[in-house]
Amino acid sequence: MASQNTRVILILLGAVIASLFLGSTAADARLRLIRAVEAAALVSLTPSHTITLTPTPTLTATVTRTPTATLTLTPTSTQPPNHSATAPRSESGVGTTQPPSPTPWPTPDSKARAREIKAPILMYHHVGPLPDEPDQIRIGLTVLPANFGAQLKFLKQRGYESIDFYQLYYAITLGWALPKKPVVFTFDDAYADIYDYALPIMRAYGYTGTVFVPTQFIDEGREGYMTWDQLMELRDAGWRLEPHTKTHTEVDGRGRDFLIYEIYGSMETLRYHLGYQPRFFAYPAGNYNDNAIAILKEVGYWGAVTTDSGWYHRLSNAYTWGRVRVGGRYVMQDFANTLGEEYP
Ligand SMILES: [Zn+2]
Repeated sequence: MASQNTRVILILLGAVIASLFLGSTAADARLRLIRAVEAAALVSLTPSHTITLTPTPTLTATVTRTPTATLTLTPTSTQPPNHSATAPRSESGVGTTQPPSPTPWPTPDSKARAREIKAPILMYHHVGPLPDEPDQIRIGLTVLPANFGAQLKFLKQRGYESIDFYQLYYAITLGWALPKKPVVFTFDDAYADIYDYALPIMRAYGYTGTVFVPTQFIDEGREGYMTWDQLMELRDAGWRLEPHTKTHTEVDGRGRDFLIYEIYGSMETLRYHLGYQPRFFAYPAGNYNDNAIAILKEVGYWGAVTTDSGWYHRLSNAYTWGRVRVGGRYVMQDFANTLGEEYP
């Protein structure tokens, strides 16, 4: 700092001398002096600026899930690969201060393009009792706790095991082994009843699920949605939280700035809370177009689910994976039929 101060004083002195010799009026001299002081101030500010900025990578400290990491690239492993901390992969130019990514993108092997995994991705919204005077939409989106319990019991009896999108993706790209009858549970919108009703029932059967979170609703503490604390409990129970935009707005027919805000913004918010980079997206209301898909790819998503019906998941359709809707009015016969299972 001593040489810095010396430099500032020299500049100031130079300015004063210059104003004495060259200046025609006092006003001119004052102006030159002011400019010299500004220039000196800039010089003196520059180093301290970079010194204070460098050591503040705020996100690094929140990576708390690393301990379970054993990323072994053997095709027989069913270990979810995403918790191993490796060097960040520079993808898009969007996040210039990327913290280490715990979810390395698996470079697809030579057979990846040809792989197809058949697995139901079950789509739920509400699990819980109906509110007073529910409308038809709410009834259609709500699975009563007793029915949900019966569905899980059925799945367990028929040998289904829950997997997440990371396992599915690694199975496609690298041929990692999956359970014989894999199922992905998804819960859209992060409604509070998922914490109150679905979580304990899922836990009783040893299943975990994925919640698609409209992050701004959680930030605002909206009535009827889970809180961040509750979502963190799900995370700690082995569930996945993935983005569903910030404000649950449809992403087709929107401009680039809007899409970056909603699609990348929700990813960033979740990354902050989770401590790892989420990689899968659900389109609000199921609407999407090529433009939205291009943004998803650009900011680092690996895949996305729609509300269309679909069972077959490949790399080539990774941004439009279909799901299996579980309707609120389904009786067990419907549920079994949806899965192509005999009932009773
Ligand atoms: Zn939704």
